[in-house]
Amino acid sequence: MLVVMKHNASQEHVDAVVATIEDMGYSARPIPGGQRTAVGLIGNDGGVDSARIQGLEGVLEVIPVTQPYKQVSREWKEEDTLVTLPNGTVVGGPEVVVMAGPCAVESEGQIIDIAHRLREVGATILRGGAFKPRTSPYSFHGLGLQGLELLAKAREATGMMVVTEAIDPQGVDLVVEYADIVQIGARNMQNYPLLRRAGQAGKPVLLKRGMAATIDELLLAAEYLLAEGNNNVILCERGVRSFDNHTRNLLDLTAIPVVKSLSHLPIIADPSHGTGIRAKVIPMARAAVAAGADGLMVEVHPDPPRARSDGAQSLYPEQFEVLMDQIRIIARSIGRDLVAPLPSAVAL
Ligand code: PEP
Ligand code: MN
Repeated sequence: MLVVMKHNASQEHVDAVVATIEDMGYSARPIPGGQRTAVGLIGNDGGVDSARIQGLEGVLEVIPVTQPYKQVSREWKEEDTLVTLPNGTVVGGPEVVVMAGPCAVESEGQIIDIAHRLREVGATILRGGAFKPRTSPYSFHGLGLQGLELLAKAREATGMMVVTEAIDPQGVDLVVEYADIVQIGARNMQNYPLLRRAGQAGKPVLLKRGMAATIDELLLAAEYLLAEGNNNVILCERGVRSFDNHTRNLLDLTAIPVVKSLSHLPIIADPSHGTGIRAKVIPMARAAVAAGADGLMVEVHPDPPRARSDGAQSLYPEQFEVLMDQIRIIARSIGRDLVAPLPSAVAL
């Protein structure tokens, strides 16, 4: 439920609304806005008797939030959420952001080399797994702490921001020390203790859609992060299971306009895991930008046949350059652009 204050309501009026909501046993979240202040009521999973609040001084109207998710909904907050990173990259604004890098960090040479090449052609965020959730227990599970240290080195060398996955609640604290964005993977989208810890992390979170999750389930998973006080959440469509086996997953591009209408949070697309096939990544990346994605996450490896994970879907660096040129044109054709490249002076 959202309590909209009159434009001339005083701070005392807002405080009285907060106190009343708390007295009723719920939590209150004041939401200052350009035009008006609102106070959100959370903690209810059913109807709330709003008569007590309606009668308070300074209250314009009480609006029920009809969706099961509250703080992530457009009803709660109309303006788009912008996630601003320390290197100036903004996710969710008019410019399309590109996160790229190998599936996993494998060595210092690999990650530093690829980071330079990606930065040169305009990527501003470096991806790379240090903790890899793998379908088989016998597959490569990442370099762990050493992988995080190498990502931090790559950031220092290039000025790119780092996004990397945390796979358990304890791991969040470690990832937060090294990364600029904490990734929650598809397999963990409904790992609620992990979501709660990531919500307390104090750093932006990239939340990937589970491979069998509905859009409402994705938004409710994001609600866990906002409920812990983290508003810097980026959603990611990375494909869902389908009955067809020509691709690894079915990249659900409809999710992009659907999420945009339901939520103020930015949403990006991952055509790499979404297709699982190198030759399909560029066409689906183009389509995702055309569909209104706020960004892309793309796997690129300096030597895909030798990649320790997801080589079959990893682009060669030369292909990534083609992708960047093509999506720039598409972004411009819909009144957007790509995030400006980082200045080369950062690379020493
Ligand atoms: C990844 O981004 O490396 C990854 C494991 O993706 P997902 O969680 O979408 O499978
Ligand atoms: Mn991968």
